[in-house]
Amino acid sequence: METKFTLYNTLTRRKEEFEPINPPHVGMYVCGPTVYGDPHLGHARPAVTFDLLFRYLRSLGYKVRYVRNITDVGHLEHDADEGEDKISKKARLEQLEPMEVAHYYTERYHRAMDALNVLSPSIEPHASGHIIEQIAMVREILDNGFAYESNGSVYFDVDKYNEKYRYGRLSGRNLEDIVANTRELDGQSDKRRSYDFALWKKAAPEHIMRWPSPWSDGFPGWHMECSAMSAKYLGRRFDIHGGGMDLMFPHHECEIAQSTAAQGYDSAKYWVHNNMITINGRKMGKSLGNFITLEELFAGRHELLAQPYSPMTIRFFVLQAHYRSTLDFSNEALQAAEKGLDRLMKGVEALEKIRPSADSTVDPSELETRCREALDDDLNSPMAISALFDWVRVINQLVEGQQRITEADLERLRGIVHRYVFEILGLRDEKAAASGGGRDLVTPLVELLLGMRQTAKAEKNWPLADKIRDGLTAAGIRVKDRKDGCDWEIE
Ligand code: ZN
Repeated sequence: METKFTLYNTLTRRKEEFEPINPPHVGMYVCGPTVYGDPHLGHARPAVTFDLLFRYLRSLGYKVRYVRNITDVGHLEHDADEGEDKISKKARLEQLEPMEVAHYYTERYHRAMDALNVLSPSIEPHASGHIIEQIAMVREILDNGFAYESNGSVYFDVDKYNEKYRYGRLSGRNLEDIVANTRELDGQSDKRRSYDFALWKKAAPEHIMRWPSPWSDGFPGWHMECSAMSAKYLGRRFDIHGGGMDLMFPHHECEIAQSTAAQGYDSAKYWVHNNMITINGRKMGKSLGNFITLEELFAGRHELLAQPYSPMTIRFFVLQAHYRSTLDFSNEALQAAEKGLDRLMKGVEALEKIRPSADSTVDPSELETRCREALDDDLNSPMAISALFDWVRVINQLVEGQQRITEADLERLRGIVHRYVFEILGLRDEKAAASGGGRDLVTPLVELLLGMRQTAKAEKNWPLADKIRDGLTAAGIRVKDRKDGCDWEIE
């Protein structure tokens, strides 16, 4: 197959052929969760998007080092730059050690990711464990003249930077727009200009999370951790930097400025952003009453939910939209996704019921080509899913004998379907798993028993043949005899 993987690069605003800096190695950094609250719907989309990218790159033969950070120092609200760190605040209110808060929510995030079948990244660095690296980078930026110290804090000098490089390259904003959109919340600021941002903040007396530095006892600024940790684990120039579109400005813009100020060039070759999730057409927010945690979604425990939605329904729903399109959550859309996923899984199960013929009237390469071309085209998962749906129809025709396939082609078809459905799209057959151990256990055991039953029937050992069928029925497996064998399904 001659198609090449292309990826939309936010930095250049076009789809580019993917060419790693040091093939077959690929370095990928994705901004991970801030762990001061339950994982919610907003976490599902970047997690699934970059999991798909990770899985697809690996299937193309790349050796991927995927770094996804844990923000446990606490991002300050970007419009309340001087406020208290959220993890500190929660810890103070609940009389906990800040690391207890961070650990608790990190665990919950991991459980939600496991449920969504999101693979663990290669490295998951914590911001609090990389204060030394962040201080070193702040020092470099100061030494290069792109930052200034003010009353124990260090700020990035945007004007100075903008004289030599261009601030706003990623988001396409210029300084005038940024000035017009920056609100100064209080006049106490030590900053020279409203758009300068903190690299190091001196901690207020009530601030619990603090570390010593050359400038003050304090904590690193909002954007430092990603610049410092990506450089540490992926080097100063790496392939992919990802995250949600909401992080493009100011977070990623500031990361680019920091890396460039420290080392003279930008860190990532491809900047990749997933679009956001809305709920019934509205942005998700605590104040709007439509903030849904993943746990509530899986349990159906929220007034906006008509029923529970399984983790795979959520994953499938996310994959059914292209990652750069908007995605609106509604009960209708989720119920449609649930039905679609069920149809796809039934198709996968039906593969086991096809009996091979002497010749083929179908060509499994067609499915492989379509899936590959779809994902090569900037990870077009909805197109890949639509190819799989077309083949669910073909599979059903093969089961019914309306089409024919040879043993070798059937093996190939099974391989292609399993690879795209389970390994690349990362779906799981929740029903088979719930019925006890999953397909890998149930199918071979049932096939083994049915094979023994066939032998018993051939030997006219009717009591044994009936005993096997009745035993399977009692276990919830319905056996349907046909002229040339039998079908079975889990009831
Ligand atoms: Zn980040």
